[in-house]
Amino acid sequence: MGYAYDDQNIFAKILRGEIPNKTVLETEHSLAFEDIQPLAPTHVLVIPRGAYVNYDHFAAEASDAEIVDFTRAVGEVCRQTGVAPGGGGGGHRLIANAGEAGVQEVPHMHLHVLGGRVLGRMLPKAG
Ligand code: AMP
Repeated sequence: MGYAYDDQNIFAKILRGEIPNKTVLETEHSLAFEDIQPLAPTHVLVIPRGAYVNYDHFAAEASDAEIVDFTRAVGEVCRQTGVAPGGGGGGHRLIANAGEAGVQEVPHMHLHVLGGRVLGRMLPKAG
C-alpha cells in the first residue's frame, strides 16, 4: 500500500510546536485541539503524534499502543467537552475524512469530534 507522508502539513507543524494550537488533551501518542474553523459549538480534532496520512494508514501501521491511546483519547475528549452521549452529555459525531472522495484537506490522520448542537442528517441525500 505505502502512503507517502508530507511532513510539511499543518498538523505536523502543530506537533513540532511550529504553529500554535488550542490544546484540549495531550497523551503519550495523541494530541487533541480545537478546530480553527469550528462547524459546531464543540469541534475538536484528535490526531496521533505518529506520521500517518489517514485512518487506513493508521489502522494498518500504527502500534497497538498508539491505537489504544488514540481510541481512549477520543473517548476522553468526548467526556471532557461534554459531548459523550451518556451521563448528561449531548452526543456527538465522529468524522474521519480520507482521500478525494472524503475531501480530506490536511494529510495527517485526524478525527473530528463534533457536538454541542443537534447536527442534522449525516449527509444530504444524494441528488
Ligand atoms: P479535513 O477536511 O478532514 O482534512 O479537515 C481539516 C480540518 O483542519 C478543517 O476542519 C480545518 O478547519 C482544520 N484546520 C486547518 N488548519 C488548522 C489549524 N492550524 N488549527 C486547527 N485546525 C485547523
